[in-house]
Amino acid sequence: MAFLDRLRAIVGAPQVLAGADAAPWLADWRGRYEGRALALVRPGSTAEVAALVRACAAEHVPIVPQGGNTGLNGGATPDQTGRAVVLSLLRMNAIRDIDTGNDTLVAEAGCVLQAVQQAARGAGRLFPLSLGSEGSCTIGGNLATNAGGTQVLRYGNMRELCLGLEVVTATGEVWQGLRGLRKDNTGYALRDLFIGSEGSLGVITAASLKLFPLPAARVTAFVALASIDDAVSLLNRARSGLGAALTGFELVSGACMAALARVFPGQRLPFDGPSAALPWFALLELSDSESEAHARQRFEAVLGGALEAGLASDAVIADSLARSQQLWELRERIPLAEKALGKSIKHDIALPVSRIGAFVRDTGDALSAGFPGVRLVVFGHLGDGNLHYNVAAGEGWSEAALLDREADINALVYERVHAAGGSISAEHGIGRLKRDLLPAYQDPVALALMRQLKAALDPAGIMNPGVLLQAQACAPAAPSA
Ligand SMILES: Cc1cc2nc3c(=O)[nH]c(=O)nc-3n(C[C@H](O)[C@H](O)[C@H](O)COP(=O)(O)OP(=O)(O)OC[C@H]3O[C@@H](n4cnc5c(N)ncnc54)[C@H](O)[C@@H]3O)c2cc1C
Repeated sequence: MAFLDRLRAIVGAPQVLAGADAAPWLADWRGRYEGRALALVRPGSTAEVAALVRACAAEHVPIVPQGGNTGLNGGATPDQTGRAVVLSLLRMNAIRDIDTGNDTLVAEAGCVLQAVQQAARGAGRLFPLSLGSEGSCTIGGNLATNAGGTQVLRYGNMRELCLGLEVVTATGEVWQGLRGLRKDNTGYALRDLFIGSEGSLGVITAASLKLFPLPAARVTAFVALASIDDAVSLLNRARSGLGAALTGFELVSGACMAALARVFPGQRLPFDGPSAALPWFALLELSDSESEAHARQRFEAVLGGALEAGLASDAVIADSLARSQQLWELRERIPLAEKALGKSIKHDIALPVSRIGAFVRDTGDALSAGFPGVRLVVFGHLGDGNLHYNVAAGEGWSEAALLDREADINALVYERVHAAGGSISAEHGIGRLKRDLLPAYQDPVALALMRQLKAALDPAGIMNPGVLLQAQACAPAAPSA
């Protein structure tokens, strides 16, 4: 039987898309990667995923797992060879269980994040992972990239939110690890190997996730700041003043506000007058177990102190839930505004918070000196030391000219990140985008261990080859379609 017919026999003919039908899933969200594939296949159960993986393994056909396809590093896009099967998990979207007594929820990998948040809320609980892409990204993708987002400061990354996994291994076996335990010292943390593995070790088919109490109120404030150092000082002051109630601390540069004003002219901005012209802004979120009024009082105390100390220049505390949401929307629209204004060179980096001020100043100066006219679009999750440090075409630059200098700009930025003890990928992963950079910045022993793990868990090298690590040859020839 021809290979695609074998796949059709497993999932049903309508779930195997080839040619133009598969095209919408063969390019990434940013429009930077476009690939080719034998087919896009949409299994509906773990058993079907396992059968598909076995069929691919038998023929050495590469598999590219795909969720919502919102990843920002090309990890869900096949390469140009046309040999891979893209395995879409979107049909596996059941919430299998909610156990409020244990504060856990079991979701299939294709569940859209927002649907999981809503299911948790429906049960009177919070699932706190929150990303700008939450209406499209999936639990499987969130796990495979160890997604971060806006609530990490309080609740941690996706890794910290996951208790157990169900995985189809690269040889087509099902690892049933869906335990909802907060303590389980029974050997290697296999779960943690698959989280953040970007589809390179196996296919995540379901996960047991942690739930939390719903806060009684969430209130947001927007603060105008004269310098990046003030932003870091405000973070530390808010942390000590609000403790675990501080659930978000986002940094927004003046350039981001200008981009928002240009792309979304109808959007209400938090400041006008001189405060609107300041170079930095912070969005703070406070989650309170009592009431909105109580949350506002706590904000007023901390932000009042910051204004008096001169480290905040102006502040707006949202006076309603709608205003809080509108301020969050501003922050979440930044990537959309950026995208609308053209391609940029993106750096999703992490730094010790204490070094962010010096990094932003020195790297900005070095970029202006080396690449006069480029525009910096900086925002991110300051509370986690995570900056989206993006370089865009400014005066005298075309988009093509900018992208031609990508390697030089990356080298300048990443050398400084590395020297400051930072990471070249905070929350987006490595994918194809940073694969060839990783060896320069990863500890060599760590890299060697990663390669050994890949060889042990994916001996045929079929799981997302070329993503995260250089591809090992996995097949001499493609099967006939
Ligand atoms: C507007 C916007 C805002 C964003 N904001 C954030 C943010 O704040 N924080 C953040 O961390 N990210 C953010 N992202 C990036 C992206 O949304 C996340 O990386 C998300 O976790 C990807 O989920 P997905 O389902 O779209 O995965 P995909 O893009 O489909 O895949 C991502 C990677 O995971 C692998 N994968 C997918 N599903 C599985 C599976 N079931 N088993 C094994 N491997 C799998 C893929 O092979 C690929 O390598 C943002 C993206 C956009 C477009």
